[in-house]
Amino acid sequence: MGEADSTTKVFTLRILNFHVRGGGDSIRHSLGAPELGPCSDGAAVNNIKQGPKAIARPLDLHSRSPKEVELVYLLLRIALAYKDHLESDSMADAAGGEPPKISKRAAEKEAKKAAARAAKAAHAAKPKSDAPKAPADPNANFKQGWLRGVYNEKPVKDVHTRFPPEPNGYLHIGHAKAITVNFGFAKAYGGKCNLRFDDTNPAKEEERYFTSIKEMVSWLGFSPAKITYSSDNFDELYRLAEELIKKDKAYVCHCTAEEVNKGRGGAEHGPRSVCKHWSRPTEESLEEFRAMRDGKYEAGEAVLRMKQYLGTKPEEYAIAEEDSAEVKKSKKELKTLAENPAMWDVSAYRIKKENYHHRTGDKWRIYPTYEFTHCLCDSFEGITHSLCTVEFETLRPAYNWLLEALDHKIPGSEEKGPMQREYGRLNVEGTILSKRRIQMLVEGATIGSKAATDDAEELADAVDEVKLAEAGDDNPVENAAAAKTTGGTGRTIPPVVRDWDDPRLFTLVAIRRRGVPPGALKKFVLDLGVTKAGADTKLHILDASIRTYLERTVPRLLLVLDPIKVIIDNVPDDFVEELEVPFDPKDAAKGTHKIPFTKTIYIDRDDFREVDNPDFFRLAPGKSVGLLYVPHPLFCESFTKGPDGRVAEIRAKYGEDQPAGKARIHWVGESAAHKTPVRAEARIFNPLFKNPRPNELDWKNGGYYDNINPESEIVYPNAMIESGFHEIKQKAPWPKEEGEAEGTTGNYSVRFQGLRTAFFCLDKEATDDKIILNRIVSLKEDTGKK
Ligand SMILES: [Zn+2]
Repeated sequence: MGEADSTTKVFTLRILNFHVRGGGDSIRHSLGAPELGPCSDGAAVNNIKQGPKAIARPLDLHSRSPKEVELVYLLLRIALAYKDHLESDSMADAAGGEPPKISKRAAEKEAKKAAARAAKAAHAAKPKSDAPKAPADPNANFKQGWLRGVYNEKPVKDVHTRFPPEPNGYLHIGHAKAITVNFGFAKAYGGKCNLRFDDTNPAKEEERYFTSIKEMVSWLGFSPAKITYSSDNFDELYRLAEELIKKDKAYVCHCTAEEVNKGRGGAEHGPRSVCKHWSRPTEESLEEFRAMRDGKYEAGEAVLRMKQYLGTKPEEYAIAEEDSAEVKKSKKELKTLAENPAMWDVSAYRIKKENYHHRTGDKWRIYPTYEFTHCLCDSFEGITHSLCTVEFETLRPAYNWLLEALDHKIPGSEEKGPMQREYGRLNVEGTILSKRRIQMLVEGATIGSKAATDDAEELADAVDEVKLAEAGDDNPVENAAAAKTTGGTGRTIPPVVRDWDDPRLFTLVAIRRRGVPPGALKKFVLDLGVTKAGADTKLHILDASIRTYLERTVPRLLLVLDPIKVIIDNVPDDFVEELEVPFDPKDAAKGTHKIPFTKTIYIDRDDFREVDNPDFFRLAPGKSVGLLYVPHPLFCESFTKGPDGRVAEIRAKYGEDQPAGKARIHWVGESAAHKTPVRAEARIFNPLFKNPRPNELDWKNGGYYDNINPESEIVYPNAMIESGFHEIKQKAPWPKEEGEAEGTTGNYSVRFQGLRTAFFCLDKEATDDKIILNRIVSLKEDTGKK
């Protein structure tokens, strides 16, 4: 654990990712006032040096037993945690000079709490504690592990990736991974990444989706090398479809969806079989394909199918004893291909009933499928590494099959054309990502209507990017089945959230509006790791990750959610004490600002009790409390209630002659000259559903509505912020974030920590006259206890 350098007589110990150093062979260390400073090796670690008041016994660690060294670690942990604690509550000499007047008992209690926190942190940090120092290379995540392996499989100089969303909805948290992986991979290997709109489904595309997708990519801090559209390739794709027919690798089929399903075999249908169109002459297919294009058929009457492996008979890959090892191997390969449903002659082109396309207008009645379009567009754009989620792994043979059939790839080689590789999806338990379900939350629903009951696409929706099977929106069989299973009660359910960007949702626009910094989201994705395995996690892990990120980055302010007025009787009416307070006690670079401590102040209702209790350490009649940054205690003499029965006003005394308090609370002073308090509406968000797994609720019959958490949004209409808010608002984004530093930023980039309260940002509905705040995340994980 520890290492000693006998030449320099300086030893370095790694504890909780802190480097602890001491001079000489001994460390003298004060529990009361350890100092933190930059480590000499420049890494992002903290030093704990000798304290000015060395109350602890000097220790010579070289001559101590491992047990004793362990004990020193423990003490240092406590000291560090205690220091953190002091700083986070901004108790350290904020008012300048005067040490806080805090009772011994409170200090002991705090030390105890700090120790518990340290033990918890030590536990949490354990798996990481032996890992090398946090790498300085921002691309490090991409240069190791699974992603490195993908690069090594095809170590080209000009890496080219793409992020290919369908422009038929808002991106969600799962896409944050796709964006981070594709853009980040290209960046790490000195390459580039395109943003490709996979716009081959005319009915579902809307301009707002294109705009939003572009915005989200840039908000996350990435700039596409090029913005492309699959539809730009419609002419070339059509030409290649004809070429495929001419090579007898595609045929026009007129079977119904039911007949097609039957041909795919299975328990009900027996062995797989081809239809009568499979063997039609290529000239005939060509003629029919042109007829499809020219309007001879209605949607569903004809489809161009790729001639993959549906026609392969089991006897072709039945292994015989006399087969050579080589034959056996190739038969095995054939079996794998022939038994993959993605290879059962899936469609390449279909007729669209609603054929108007936002870019090509009425030019086309037929549109290529994902399976036909995706790999070819990758190839047209010179994509080297086509990265997608594992759901597409079974589609990889089809991806390669088409490229090889059209000479865009060499069989069995990754030398030419794009290479598809798959990483695990990001799943955050408790998030609703299905477009249809979010739509029900945004717009409301009528049970029994198509919108509420058509679940044919539900699963497909939840899967990133595109549908897995060719059975899509046009599949009458599935739609009919879905309609049959619902009772149709006619119940009307109202909207549950404001819009697609309601901060309780997990679309990227919602996450942004809630105030989550883009860097926090990217870090969350990368910390979970990018491998073939899915990244399954829970909401509280996401919150913890955001909290840690904000803790390190945003400025602190005093904010009172539910104010009670406090009048200090023993100071003159015009009493003002200007206090210089830091924006971040842990980061001097953020600077300081002045706040007025005045005769009238406001404290949070939670910090006052009408009837005192020995276990209560904050303000109550006949009791004192400390105020953050303020040198002397505040003593409560009396209080009065308003007509609503709630405490309306507290009368108090202030000064060094008042009894000491046992804790410090936050407050906001009243001073017109300082433009304080800043009045605000604060919205506190909690999970939208009571059930932690809302996807398991009954979405067909409206059961989801009965599970809505009545406390998913709690509004504090009279919140107050100190005057530092003006400066924070003006400086936002502060700190400057990739993606927010340049270009347009919105209210969401005005972020701060309300001391002892929560992290907040300015909501998009806020104006200069009406401040509205969103709680980004609480300061601590909500354990459900009050
Ligand atoms: Zn057919």
